[in-house]
Amino acid sequence: RQSVQVPAVVGAALRVPLATGGHIEYANLDHAASAPCLRGVQDAVDELLPWYASVHRGAGFASQVSTKVYERARDVLRKFVGARSRDAVVFTRNTTDSLNLLARSLPKGTSVVLFDTEHHAALLPWKGPWIRRIQTPASAADAVVALDNALVSAPAGPRLVVVTGASNVTGELWPVDELAAVARKHGARVALDAAQLAPHRAVDIKAWDVDYVVLSGHKLYAPFGAGALVGRADWLQAADPYLVGGGATKQVVNYGDHLGVAWSAVPERHEAGSPNVVGVHALAAACEVLSANWSDIEAHEISLLRRLREGLRSVPGLSELSLFDGPRVGVVSFTVEGHDAGLIAAALSAEYGIGVRDGAFCAHIATRRLLAKCGSTEQQALRASLGLGSTAEHVDRLVDALRTLVTVGPALTYRLADGRWVP
Ligand code: PMP
Repeated sequence: RQSVQVPAVVGAALRVPLATGGHIEYANLDHAASAPCLRGVQDAVDELLPWYASVHRGAGFASQVSTKVYERARDVLRKFVGARSRDAVVFTRNTTDSLNLLARSLPKGTSVVLFDTEHHAALLPWKGPWIRRIQTPASAADAVVALDNALVSAPAGPRLVVVTGASNVTGELWPVDELAAVARKHGARVALDAAQLAPHRAVDIKAWDVDYVVLSGHKLYAPFGAGALVGRADWLQAADPYLVGGGATKQVVNYGDHLGVAWSAVPERHEAGSPNVVGVHALAAACEVLSANWSDIEAHEISLLRRLREGLRSVPGLSELSLFDGPRVGVVSFTVEGHDAGLIAAALSAEYGIGVRDGAFCAHIATRRLLAKCGSTEQQALRASLGLGSTAEHVDRLVDALRTLVTVGPALTYRLADGRWVP
């Protein structure tokens, strides 16, 4: 039972059909993939929809409104992550887009250090002569030492350390401030992937001494299509535009055999094309709602997470995946030896109206390693992730359903179609 009042989400009591007949309230336990829209976000979007128009370039009233809304959102994002006044806010599509933009903006020869259990969005974009992917050690304290050792051997020149605030596989919190302190000692900048952290905990890049933070609106209870890169402007300013086109240019001149182009300054430099004003407004509205409710949000999540983990311990053969066995946000991945994760996920949906994620969560190295660590021979895991739409009933339903599925089995027969189990 909830003793705290958390912000309401849209579609909190959606009813979904069961393959066994009838309907049931949907138990969305997949917030880590995408979170439902907050009511406050829906209201903010409703208000803007009649007014949205092209930003910056239009002189009409609606354009002025949209430009104000769009620029105001930068200030909201700046506050949301605890940015310094020197930090730029570049709006992107999502975390993946933000990290790719940062990767493309690194000065030539930048050394990059990261842990190999990262989400693919943080693992893959980096290019350059020296990239060190540290095998994630068994404790957070060892991770700090491992980073220190890796940076000792990094070549002279610009350096970047990429860290994640909270793992999308285990929900575990990384020691961001300690890792940042080590990075600083070696003259490295730090980019924080806050895709999973920002929906659950206040981010403070100034206090943690981090240079860049990236996040996605759709994990923060806003709809898809808007994300942000917040951080130091100098590398972004020195880099070629991420996309070229209108908005990224101050002036274009035809010299006959070539075009002379003066690129805009950051942030417009990396925001070519008509921007997603509605998405950015929704993202900012979500940030404002979350910022005003952190203590209730955390209390709600902590109590449900305790209930979930205790419940999962009662399921025969279930092992929870863990990097460090450390504190975590409301994300838990697990495996049940001898049970196909995809089949369990399909049965949870078809027979119980529960949405979880199965697979390797776009973090193949992490998921495989953690499965092996708990002695599993499975290649895929299940993930239940909590959010503002979660209730104790959803958690209890999941635990009861898992117990039935692994002891008695599914009520229906399933077959594989295009790699997915269907009843
Ligand atoms: N990093 C982490 C930790 C994530 O959980 C995700 C999304 N699963 C991403 C990056 C990528 O986010 P997006 O798909 O919104 O670009």
